[in-house]
Amino acid sequence: MEQLKSRNEVDVNYTWNLTDLFESDEAFEQAAENIRPEIESYSRKYENSLTDASVAVEAIEGFKGLMESLVPIGAYANLRLSSDQGDASAQRLSGIASNIGTYFGSETSFLTSELLQKDESFLKDIRTRAPEFENFVDELLKQKPYQLDAKVEKALASYSTVFEGPYSLYLKTKLLDIDFGTFTANGQEIPLSYLAFEGELESHEDTEVRRNAFRAFSDKLADYQHTTAATYDLQLKQEKTTADLRGFDSVIDYLLHRQDVDQTLYNRQIDMIMSDLAPHMRRYAKLLKRVHGLDEMKYEDLKISLDPSSEPEISVEESRKYINDALGIMGEDYLNMVNRAYDERWIDFVKNKGKSTGAFCASPYGSHPFILISWTSLMTEVFVLAHELGHAGHFYNANREQNVFDARSSMYFIEAPSTMNEMLMANHLLENSDDPKFKRWVISSIISRTYYHNCVTHLLEAAYQREVYKKVDNNESVSAPELNRLKRQVIEEFWGEDVTITEGAELTWMRQPHYYMGLYPYTYSAGLTIATAMSKRVLNEGQPAVDDWLKVLKSGGTKSPVELAQMAGVDVTTDQPLRDTIDYIGELVDQLEALTEEIEG
Ligand SMILES: [Zn+2]
Repeated sequence: MEQLKSRNEVDVNYTWNLTDLFESDEAFEQAAENIRPEIESYSRKYENSLTDASVAVEAIEGFKGLMESLVPIGAYANLRLSSDQGDASAQRLSGIASNIGTYFGSETSFLTSELLQKDESFLKDIRTRAPEFENFVDELLKQKPYQLDAKVEKALASYSTVFEGPYSLYLKTKLLDIDFGTFTANGQEIPLSYLAFEGELESHEDTEVRRNAFRAFSDKLADYQHTTAATYDLQLKQEKTTADLRGFDSVIDYLLHRQDVDQTLYNRQIDMIMSDLAPHMRRYAKLLKRVHGLDEMKYEDLKISLDPSSEPEISVEESRKYINDALGIMGEDYLNMVNRAYDERWIDFVKNKGKSTGAFCASPYGSHPFILISWTSLMTEVFVLAHELGHAGHFYNANREQNVFDARSSMYFIEAPSTMNEMLMANHLLENSDDPKFKRWVISSIISRTYYHNCVTHLLEAAYQREVYKKVDNNESVSAPELNRLKRQVIEEFWGEDVTITEGAELTWMRQPHYYMGLYPYTYSAGLTIATAMSKRVLNEGQPAVDDWLKVLKSGGTKSPVELAQMAGVDVTTDQPLRDTIDYIGELVDQLEALTEEIEG
């Protein structure tokens, strides 16, 4: 197993090209410096001056301009840092961006406060004069019942860097402080890190390597559990205080309000998956155990592939053809974006020390999407890449069609375009193979990656998170032992007697950054529910379904998640789409069992 390189040793051709945002760090600093006086003169000009609707429109226009200038500043700093958390100059730039963001927030908080003090006819007048700000005004009105006094809003905005503190601390502990060292398996010393564990070792086909890696990984996590729990507790306290101050009944209501979603949709995902998906996934776990001849099925065995030997290796260059073929159905404009992503270095493929784990796509308004991934040369990466290109395709479309206020859709919908592309990839691979072993590999990838990841891993986070927030709503603090207990309870409930929940599994809550992003975890399964229904439509109806989907992508945040799903022909106000999704997963497990019979013949 290779030692991780430093960022300055990697092949530049496989890194993203941030000069599309700023030519250099100096240019970035210059831009950050230039914008400060602009913000200052903006607030001097408009604060306490919104006398009539035409001035208000001008003020919103100016605000929009400032936001458009700030987006690349924030994006550049974030991307620099996520490619190497340990890079001192990236840390400095990130500090600059965050300071300017805070300054912007507090200097312009008057705009919302003052507009919300106006009467309805004033706001209507803004909408008539400037129809492009219709959604902006509607969003304001939604906030109105929870808006605080102008001075309080300003003070809160000035503290925003502090409010981001827990997340930044979490990342520092996780990516800089924890040193996993090495572990031994089969008499060999093997280097361990977050990247190595999640990218390779936790799904390693050698049982001793996999289980020993899990042991060493968990032991090291345990050393940091109290710091991490205290960091998380700060995040929770801040959310609870905000919810209380603004007059929400609970933290969950407060966080769902931002998503334009009510508790029915939220609770349904968690409850129904916990009860109805679990039996199918336990059947899948039993199949893994049988095929691999394991003595018992342990928690750390769940990520193994059904048949690792059928997983082809794939280079970055080879992935392009798969991606093109699978996503071709989305049309020329979409594919053009995909190929630009390869040709113009929108994607950071390399592996290096200090790089953020997992994969993500950032789509700064006014620029193009950027994708972070750590390429392992395994076929699964085409699913990861298809997923991230799904986010890219979403914002590539939405950013072109909508203004900076309206481009982002609700978090509830965010994972639909990405998981949709995973389904398109799977359909493509299945259609083009008659080899039962490869077919089984593809179906098991859909289960073990797409559905496992989105409907099990993230859903168990969601179920755990809901328990945590119940405590928070009771004004209780959380500590590491309590978080461990809650996490273990959820895992045990889902897997029942079919999987042994090894010591260390309860620390899984330490691994996800999602808990610093509100009610994010449950949205993966919500998005995938829409994507499952949508990909079936594309398979059955072809072009008309694709056209509907592109319209949805272009709508950005101008519609609520329920409306967006409706446009895609999916009614998420009922439990039918989720029921269908769970049945579909059941069918996939049936197919895996049948293909296994056929292969073992
Ligand atoms: Zn995603």
